[in-house]
Amino acid sequence: MNVVVTGGAGFIGANLCRELASRPDVGGVVALDDLSTGSAANLADEENVDLVKGSILDPALVDSVVSQADAVVHLAARPSVPRSLKDPVASHHANATGTVNVLEACRRGNVPVVAASSSSVYGATEALPKHEELPTRPLSPYAASKLATESYVLAYGASFGLPVLAFRFFNVYGPLQPAGHAYAAVVPAFTDAMLRGEPVRIFGDGQQTRDFTYVGTVVRVLADAVLRKVSYAGPVNLAFGTRVSLLDLARQLADITGVPADIRHEDPRAGDVRHSQAADGRLRELFPDVAQVPLAEGLAQTVDWF
Ligand code: NAD
Repeated sequence: MNVVVTGGAGFIGANLCRELASRPDVGGVVALDDLSTGSAANLADEENVDLVKGSILDPALVDSVVSQADAVVHLAARPSVPRSLKDPVASHHANATGTVNVLEACRRGNVPVVAASSSSVYGATEALPKHEELPTRPLSPYAASKLATESYVLAYGASFGLPVLAFRFFNVYGPLQPAGHAYAAVVPAFTDAMLRGEPVRIFGDGQQTRDFTYVGTVVRVLADAVLRKVSYAGPVNLAFGTRVSLLDLARQLADITGVPADIRHEDPRAGDVRHSQAADGRLRELFPDVAQVPLAEGLAQTVDWF
């Protein structure tokens, strides 16, 4: 089987390319990435992964890459809520229009597609845990664009019989997730600050909660989905209901790094949701053998990688 991973040079994408390349049933892996937030270095050691540098906004390129594939995992996106507040149109282009380009290429060859949506689509919906039948109420352009991503994916399944699977990722963390830039995710941002002896910045009171999923767990599920050709007509949460406050996360990372967290509270950020916790019933129905790497173990592996 030949698999194309859009966004394959990014954090989750590069971890997935490695996982796919290690599976005996996968013959070739192609990462299609414009390197806007990803990096060729993430794939430098991977002899069995080919990197095609280019954009999903180039339909001819997407067509030519996808025409060689037996499956596509569509992860390419312009990530992050704050980035989308700065440039909503760019988020829309990459996440909505780019997705349609990928789906058009998949439709032409009837190539199954597994795609990344986001827990941010639940937005202002306050019920916990977040199960997939809850209404979606995006709070940011990023969340709206990811809702567009998953809506298009599911619509192509319904309209054209394309085998599709749209996962809602929650807070994915682990090796290769970059720190040291304005849009860094919370685990690398906290870890990096502690290891440098700098203050840990928390936006708001730190009581907001997130459901963290180790990247190794995420890519195993993605690779299983591809190889078992799993498709589903609705969105599927890819997280396990492990709800942790940011203050608690900082405490756990301080224990692992051995560096006390010097916490500085800043104003809450626009577009951020208050609480996040996945219901994992649908995931467990589709992937009965799924097992997650526990948070303490995943955080220890992440700190080791730094
Ligand atoms: P990332 O920024 O590391 O990966 C995105 C990749 O897409 C990057 O390599 C980037 O260069 C590439 N890309 C962006 N625009 C492109 C374009 N026009 N053409 C080709 N490539 C392009 O981020 P990530 O955390 O690995 O996210 C992967 C996917 O998971 C994204 O779809 C994101 O929205 C989704 N997601 C991630 C999380 C998380 O916690 N990391 C949570 C929810 C959803």
